[in-house]
Amino acid sequence: MTELTRLSAAEIARRVQAREVSSVEVTRAHLARIEAVDGSLNAFLHVDAEGALAAAAAIDEEIAAGTIRGPLAGVPVAVKDNIATADMPTTCASRILEGWRPPYDATVVTRLREAGLVPLGKTNLDEFAMGGSNENSAFGAVRNPWDASRVPGGSSGGSAAATAAGEAPLALGSDTGGSIRQPGAFTGLVGVKPTYGTVSRYGLVAFSSSLDQIGTFGRSVLDAAMLHEVVGGHDPADQTSIAAPLPPVVEAALAGARGDLAGVRVGVVTELSGEGYQPGVLAAFTDAVRVLTDLGAEVVEVSCPSFTAAMPAYYIIAPSEASSNLARFDAMRYGLRVGDDGSHSTDQVMSLTREAGFGPEVKRRIMIGTHALSAGSYDALYGKAQKARTLIVRDFAAAFEDCDVLVSPTVPTTAFPIGDRVDDPVAMYLADLCTIPTNLAGNAGLSVPCGLSADDGMPVGLQVMAPALADDRAYRVAAAYELARDTSSGTPFASTIPDPAVLENA
Ligand code: GLN
Repeated sequence: MTELTRLSAAEIARRVQAREVSSVEVTRAHLARIEAVDGSLNAFLHVDAEGALAAAAAIDEEIAAGTIRGPLAGVPVAVKDNIATADMPTTCASRILEGWRPPYDATVVTRLREAGLVPLGKTNLDEFAMGGSNENSAFGAVRNPWDASRVPGGSSGGSAAATAAGEAPLALGSDTGGSIRQPGAFTGLVGVKPTYGTVSRYGLVAFSSSLDQIGTFGRSVLDAAMLHEVVGGHDPADQTSIAAPLPPVVEAALAGARGDLAGVRVGVVTELSGEGYQPGVLAAFTDAVRVLTDLGAEVVEVSCPSFTAAMPAYYIIAPSEASSNLARFDAMRYGLRVGDDGSHSTDQVMSLTREAGFGPEVKRRIMIGTHALSAGSYDALYGKAQKARTLIVRDFAAAFEDCDVLVSPTVPTTAFPIGDRVDDPVAMYLADLCTIPTNLAGNAGLSVPCGLSADDGMPVGLQVMAPALADDRAYRVAAAYELARDTSSGTPFASTIPDPAVLENA
C-alpha cells in the first residue's frame, strides 16, 4: 500500500490544502489501490476513475488559485450504491436496477461535491440494504480485508471494506438497523449512525423510511466527524429532515481527544451483553469500559428491558415499510423490464420483472411485510411491533435521565466466515441485536474499534449511543477512548489495518 492510502482523511486534506501533494496524486493512489485489491475484495460496483481525476484536478486548480472549499477539499470518498449519483449508476446491488442512472444527485452527494471531496465510485451492499453480511448482493459477496474468508458485515459492506483496505479514506453508508455500525465493527472502522433526520435522505433509495439514516465511515473518529459535518444539516428537500443545527460533531471529536471524561455518565446496558456473546468480544468490551473508567467517566449499569423486543419488532416494521417502498419497482419506471414482448399483460410484465429482478432476501422481506400489513395480521404483528417500539423509546428516555451516553458491544460476535449464516436468516439477523434499538428510537449511535478479539484476532466494536440531537456526546466519548486506546497500546489502531500483503494475495 502506498503511503497516501494509509493517511487519515484529515491529514490528506491538510497536505493537499498546503499543496504538499495534489488531490490528483492522492486520487491516483487510491485508484491504484482499488486496481490492486478490488479484484479480491469486490467492494466497488462502479469506479469512475475519469470523473474522479477530473474533479481532483479542478480542486487542485482552485487551491492553487487560493480557494479552499472546505476542510475536506481534495479528499477522495466512496459512496454506497443506494445513494443517487447523476454521473454514475445506482443499482442498490439489485438486478432490478442494473444499469439505472438517476437523473439527479442525492443531497449528500451534492454536498460532497460542493465541499470539494472527490467521489471515487459506488460501493457494494446487500441488495436494497437488506442484510448483515453483504452476501445478499446480486453482484457478489464482499470480502473482509482483515481476513478474506470472512464477511465485512453489511449492508454497507463495500463502503466498510473499501475504507479499511485503503481504497478510500472515507465512505458514506446507510444504517437502517445497524448497516454502518456493524460493518464498521467487523472491519475495524469508526462507523456512525447520526440522529434520524439530521443527514438528508433525499436521493437515498428507501428501504424502511422510519429507520433509514445515511452516515459515515472513517478510520478515525475525527475523520468520520469531518465527513458527517460535510453531509449533515437541514435539507428542505427531505421531508423528515430536522430544522435544527447539526450537533457540533467535529468540535466534540477534537474536544474528546484533548480532555478526559470526568463527569461523563456512561451507562452499560445490561440487556446488550452476556450469554450468547463471543467471549473475545465481551473481553474487549469489558476492557473498553475499564478505559472509560480510567478516563474519569462515571460508569453505571442500566437496564433497558424492552430492548429484548427490538429484534422482533424491527423484523416486522422494516419489512412492512420495505414492502410498501419497493412497490415502486414495477417494471415501468426504473431499470429492468422482463416479458415486454407483446404477449404479456402489464400485470404479467410487473410480476415477471419482480420475479427476475429481486433476490431471495428482498422477496422474503416483501412477503413478511405484506403479510404483517394485511387486514388479518395488522394488529397482531405491525401494531404490536409499534407498541414495542414505543417501549424501547421509553427505555432510552429513562436511561438517558441517568446517563449521558450508553455503551455496548456493537455486535455480539466478530466477522463470521462467508457462507456461515446464509441458510439461517435468524442467525444473520442476530448480528444487529445491539444496533437496532437506536434505529427504532431515532437517536444517535456510533461504533469505534476497541481492539481485537483474543479468540480469532478480528476487530471488535464499542458502540456508543447518545440521545437524539446529542451526537456530539458519542463523538466526545469515542474520541477520548480512541486516544487512550492508542496511547496504551503504543500503536495507533488505524495503522494496524489491514496487512496489504495478505490482501493483494487474497
Ligand atoms: N441487517 C439489517 C437488515 O438486514 C440492517 C440493515 C440496514 O441497516 N440497512 O435489515
